[in-house]
Amino acid sequence: MAEQLFDNHGRPLTYLRLAVTDRCNLRCFYCMPEEGIHYLPKKELLTFEEIQRLVTLLASMGISKVRITGGEPFVRTDLMHLLRMIRATPGIESLRLTTNGLLTAPHVKELKHLGIRSINLSLDSLDRQRFRAITRRDEFDATWQTLTQLVDEGFDVKINAVVMEGKNIEDLVPFVHLTEQWPVSVRFIEEMPFNGAGHVSTLVWTHQRILDHLRQHFPSLTKDIDEPHSTAFHYRVPGHRGNIGIIAAYTRMFCGSCNRIRITAQGVLKTCLYDDGVLNIKTRLREGATDDELRAHLLNAFAHRAKDGFEAERQRANGITESMSTIGG
Ligand code: SAM
Ligand code: SF4
Repeated sequence: MAEQLFDNHGRPLTYLRLAVTDRCNLRCFYCMPEEGIHYLPKKELLTFEEIQRLVTLLASMGISKVRITGGEPFVRTDLMHLLRMIRATPGIESLRLTTNGLLTAPHVKELKHLGIRSINLSLDSLDRQRFRAITRRDEFDATWQTLTQLVDEGFDVKINAVVMEGKNIEDLVPFVHLTEQWPVSVRFIEEMPFNGAGHVSTLVWTHQRILDHLRQHFPSLTKDIDEPHSTAFHYRVPGHRGNIGIIAAYTRMFCGSCNRIRITAQGVLKTCLYDDGVLNIKTRLREGATDDELRAHLLNAFAHRAKDGFEAERQRANGITESMSTIGG
């Protein structure tokens, strides 16, 4: 069994989030500009073989959980092949996905067969028109179909909804009502400045503001149990089958227990969501680094991890300009 991996602040590192593409079939306005997107040429993405080598190495160092994200992961050709490879990697105990659901439905049975139990589905509105306004595509039905299928198949489903003034505040209460009969976790996410322009486009709905709003409508809302290292603070209306999570991604309330590292679509290591990349792994791989050399580079990055997202942002050489579609969320 791999040894436990720690950063310079004594936080265990167990969880890799891997963006397998920067391409997407939606254009969520909080994530990507509508036009003028310069997708990475295919050769700039890590190949499946490179990913497999990295995941194997990281698993030997203590990473046991992997989340596949993007861009939209199912836009990457032959994603299921990659999932099979990662699932078979010794030491990887949990494999999860974040998807917008548009291309997911045909693969649900195989995902289940592969032992993938938990899927995060992005759905910012329960209203078709608002969904279209946010994602700039008329694809509500596809996401909804995937949601119902995942629930029917017994997946642990987490719905991700970025909360935005003037866009989907009307949806907060209906989302809580959804948890009455549906055993899902609806996670309300504070909007972050990763939209390609570097600012939050609306007045931020913070964790506290979201919570106050929910408590006004559901006075019985109670605190639920948070799993260790969870970025969401969970709440539940007593008697509801599902629960609510609030992710303080902008106010950064969870950094003290963060166990995550990220590899971007460009093959760059981020040890904090807010840093601008601390190690170009793809370059090292393609220069012919041995596993021992890669391990040393990785350990060095983990030994210089920012204390929190504010420090990571201050240490950036440049301000935030990237899209979340290259980072993966
Ligand atoms: N395309 C997939 C999806 O949407 O689920 C996976 C990639 S997407 C970048 C991962 C998550 O990041 C989504 O849940 C999305 O809502 C979230 N996200 C993207 N941009 C964001 C932003 N500016 N602020 C907060 N969350 C954001
Ligand atoms: Fe695509 Fe996901 Fe970004 Fe929306 S949030 S544009 S679905 S990558």
